[in-house]
Amino acid sequence: MEKYLLVAINSQYIHTNLAVRYLKKYSEEYSNKNVQIYETNINNQILQIIKEIQEQDPAVVIFSTYIWNRDYVFKIIKELRKIMPEVKLGVGGPEATYMGDDYLLKDEQVDFLIKGEGERAFVKLLEEKIEDIRGIYEEQMSHNLDEIPFPYSHDEIMKESKILYYESSRGCPFSCSYCLSSIDKGVRYFSVERVKNDLNIFLKSNIKLLKFVDRTFNINKERYLEIWKYLIENYREGITFHFEINANILDDESLELLKKVPKDYFQFEIGVQSINYDTMEIINRRNLLDKLEKNVREISKNIHLHLDLIAGLPYETYDIFKKSFNYVYDLKPEMIQLGFLKILKGTNMEKTSEKYGYQYIEFPPYEVLYNDFLSYKDIVRIKEVEKLLNHYYNSEKFEKSLNYIVKKYYTSSFDFFEDISSFFKMNGLLDVGHKELSLFNYFVDFAKYKNFADEYFYEYLKFDYLKNGKPGVYPQWFKSEKDSDLYDVTIKNKGYKTTRDGHKNSELEIFSFNVLKEEEKNERVALFFDYRNGKVYEIDFLVEEI
Ligand code: SF4
Repeated sequence: MEKYLLVAINSQYIHTNLAVRYLKKYSEEYSNKNVQIYETNINNQILQIIKEIQEQDPAVVIFSTYIWNRDYVFKIIKELRKIMPEVKLGVGGPEATYMGDDYLLKDEQVDFLIKGEGERAFVKLLEEKIEDIRGIYEEQMSHNLDEIPFPYSHDEIMKESKILYYESSRGCPFSCSYCLSSIDKGVRYFSVERVKNDLNIFLKSNIKLLKFVDRTFNINKERYLEIWKYLIENYREGITFHFEINANILDDESLELLKKVPKDYFQFEIGVQSINYDTMEIINRRNLLDKLEKNVREISKNIHLHLDLIAGLPYETYDIFKKSFNYVYDLKPEMIQLGFLKILKGTNMEKTSEKYGYQYIEFPPYEVLYNDFLSYKDIVRIKEVEKLLNHYYNSEKFEKSLNYIVKKYYTSSFDFFEDISSFFKMNGLLDVGHKELSLFNYFVDFAKYKNFADEYFYEYLKFDYLKNGKPGVYPQWFKSEKDSDLYDVTIKNKGYKTTRDGHKNSELEIFSFNVLKEEEKNERVALFFDYRNGKVYEIDFLVEEI
C-alpha cells in the first residue's frame, strides 16, 4: 500500500512532535491508508535525513513546519525533489498556515499545504487519488475535540528520556498583538473526563515531564480546578506537569488549591512580557502588576516558575526594558525566559509595524532588528545580557554567590548582568561555549576585577560549587576545610550502606559562617551535602554516632 509519510524535525532529541502523532492516530480512526511517522531533529545532517526519507519509499511526504525548522524543511524539500520527482511533497503547521500560500505553491516549492488544524484536512487529502493531490487542504475541526484519539503509543510513554506534549484545549481567548494564537478566535476543549483518562495514562507512565501546550490553561475555572484537583489527588512522585497560565486571573480559591501541590509536581510558565503601561495597552496584554506579584510570590513556594519577557515591544526603550527585567528578576522565578519580538505574518503587530518604525529579519525567526524605541545596538546589548542571564541565573548553579553579589554591590539585577556581560565581551568570552567549571572560574575573575572577591563571596561560591554535585576537581579559589571524623560519623548517621557509598554520594565541608542560612557573622559551620536527595544539612560539631 502506498505510504504517506509524516515528517517531524524537532529542535532537540528529547522533544516529541504532537501534531504528527495526532494526524497518524486520527487517520487510523477515519481512513485505512498506510500513514507512518519519521521523526528526527535539526542536529541530524540534511543528507542523512534525505537518505532516511528516501529509504521509506513514500508516495506522499508531509512536513510539520514551524518558525525554527522552516528553512531546514525547505532545504530538504528542494533536495528531495531532485531524487524523488514523482513524490508529492507538502507542508503543514503554523508556517504553512500563515506564510503565504501563493509563494509556496506558485513557485512549486511544494505540491500542497495543510492549513490550520490538520486532522480533518489530512483525512480529506487521504481520500484523494495520489496524482490529484495538489493545492490547499483546510478543514474546520468540530467543537468536540474528543474525536481525536490519544496521541501516544505504549512504548512512547514508557520512555524516560523524552518530553511529551499534551493538549486539553485549542485556541486562546486573548488577543496579544504579536501572537498567532490571537488570530483564530474561540477556545475548544477535550472533555474533562477524556482529559482525566489521558492523565491517568501519563501518571502510570515513566515520563518525567509532560508539557500542556494549551495556550492559556487557566481560562475556564471550573474545568482547570477539576483537572488540577485530579492531578493532586492522584499524585505520583517523579513526574512534572507544565502549564502556561495567566497569573493575573488566579483567584483565592485557585491559590488555595495550588498550595496543596506537592513540590516539583507542577511547573508554570507565565508571560509577563512587559510592565510598561503604554506597552501593555498597545500589545493588548494588561498585567495587574500588584496582583501578578502577589500571586507569583504565593505560588512560587511550591511551584517551579518560568517567567517570560519580550524585548523589542512598542514603547519599551532600553531603560524601560530594564525596569521590566528587574521586576521579573525580583520575583525570583526558577527561570527568566528572555525572548525577542518576532514580527509574524498575519498578526496585528505585523500590520502596525510601520507605525513604530520596525525593521526585522525577513526570514525565520522574523526577529526585530530595531524600532523607534530600541536601536540595533540596544537589541545586541540585551542579547549579551541574555547570555549571561542563562549562564549565571537560569542555570540555577550560582544561586547564593549571585544573590550575594547582586544584593551587596548593585542597585538592580540588570546592572549586574550588563556589567558581567561587558567583562565577558572584553575578554572574548561572549560568543563561545563554556563548561560549568569555567563559569565558576570566570565569576571569580570578574569578582576580582570589580574588587568584589571578599571572604563571603568565596564561601558562597564554594557552597554553590558543592551544591552542584561531588567535585571532580577543586579549583584554585576553592579553600577546602574538612573534618574527616565528623564526616564519617555523619555518613553513618545519614544511613548510607557503606562508608565508601557515603563518600561517593556526599560531601562535608567547614565554612567560616552559616552559608546555608546566609547569616554573615563569623562562626565555623559544618555543612553536609547529600547528593542522594540534593539536600544540604547543617551538622553539629558534637554529633555522635547513633
Ligand atoms: S500570547 Fe498567549 S495569551 Fe496572548 S494571545 Fe497568544 S496564546 Fe493567548
